[in-house]
Amino acid sequence: MTLKITPIRKDFPNLKDKIHGKPLAYLDNAATTLKPKQVIDAVSAYYSHYASNIHRAVHALSQKATLQYENTREKVRKFINAKNTAEIIFTSGTTESINLVAQSYVKTFLKANDEIIISEMEHHSNIVPWQIASKETGCTLKIIPVDNNGEIDLERFKELLSSKTKLVSITHTSNVLGTINPVKEIIRIAHGHHVPVLIDAAQAVGHQTIDVQDLDCDFLAFSAHKMYGPTGVGILYGKQNLLEAMAPYKTGGDMIDSVTFEKTTYRELPYKFEAGTPDIASVIGLGAAIDYINRVGLNKISSYEKTLLSYAIKELKNISGLQVVGSPSKKAPIISFVLDGIHPHDLGTILDEQGIAIRTGHLCTQPLLKRFGVLSLSRASLGIYNTPKDIDALVGGIKKAKKVFKC
Ligand code: PLP
Repeated sequence: MTLKITPIRKDFPNLKDKIHGKPLAYLDNAATTLKPKQVIDAVSAYYSHYASNIHRAVHALSQKATLQYENTREKVRKFINAKNTAEIIFTSGTTESINLVAQSYVKTFLKANDEIIISEMEHHSNIVPWQIASKETGCTLKIIPVDNNGEIDLERFKELLSSKTKLVSITHTSNVLGTINPVKEIIRIAHGHHVPVLIDAAQAVGHQTIDVQDLDCDFLAFSAHKMYGPTGVGILYGKQNLLEAMAPYKTGGDMIDSVTFEKTTYRELPYKFEAGTPDIASVIGLGAAIDYINRVGLNKISSYEKTLLSYAIKELKNISGLQVVGSPSKKAPIISFVLDGIHPHDLGTILDEQGIAIRTGHLCTQPLLKRFGVLSLSRASLGIYNTPKDIDALVGGIKKAKKVFKC
């Protein structure tokens, strides 16, 4: 199962550019991926040829935009194997998808003294919305600890579950450790207590197959821009019965059925949760990104990234003074590390001068960094266009930084 990398790389215009006069080694895919020309062309075609609003007008441009927008909803449904398109809500990203549930589900169903469970490895966007919703409703947030390998403590999770637990929200794949959590097992355990589960799939979708019916998750959140699609659009998948029972999140145009000054009734799903003009171009671009991933093949992508990850870990571990944080048994192509004697920010700057893009800082996971006793990390994360040459560039760049810092 091999990926034909050369034609894939040709699809990404960014990879032809030089950065500080050097070829680009883009290793910041967990933050956002580069975009193939097929996605850029789809966005450009909308703006060039049928820019118009959706769902509202009878003219040809609006009809075409509506068709493309709704076609993408069907592509998303198929991509994650949802039962029907009513369960696919377009949002602005993973963050908004989680906020939607935190506001709408929590306010509809939770009351004082109920409990919400998250884990110690969550991105801030899967922490802060629950904190705020908990404060507003008088609920308590419970945290599943992470062990030294960077894995969820499943026994502790079972202990935390009780009749007070009303929701579990957990990441599928850690954006720092790369840990791929046993989410199917977590969902099965939670459902044993009749507790619904939200999966933050921001770092999973686009790297491995996600089947919401197989997982049996109640909600799933992800972003188009981390799967070769445009920024500004995300997905909230929710089981239809839950979404139907939830109050609207944002209100205004397009989500209403009828409005009088006395009373408003809402449209059916999914429109009840899509108030106002959405990012139409980005949704259409997401459709092109899904086509792109499907054409390459998710199985091939997974297996290629796995091989590249093993090579990267082997090479990085050979560098003296470099420690990779966490060693989970199932790992996505994300490697965070510390380097003795060099602050991540300095390393990132020296690498940038060599055309190598990595992410440095707290990686939007301050509680997890605290757990591992660090304030800041360097992170290399892989995508479908990366090659061993990019890894070699990274290793060479780190060695150069060590010479500069004499360590
Ligand atoms: N969850 C995880 C695990 C992430 O890695 C990220 C972004 O890095 C997010 C949520 C937030 O995604 P977005 O900024 O696209 O809303």
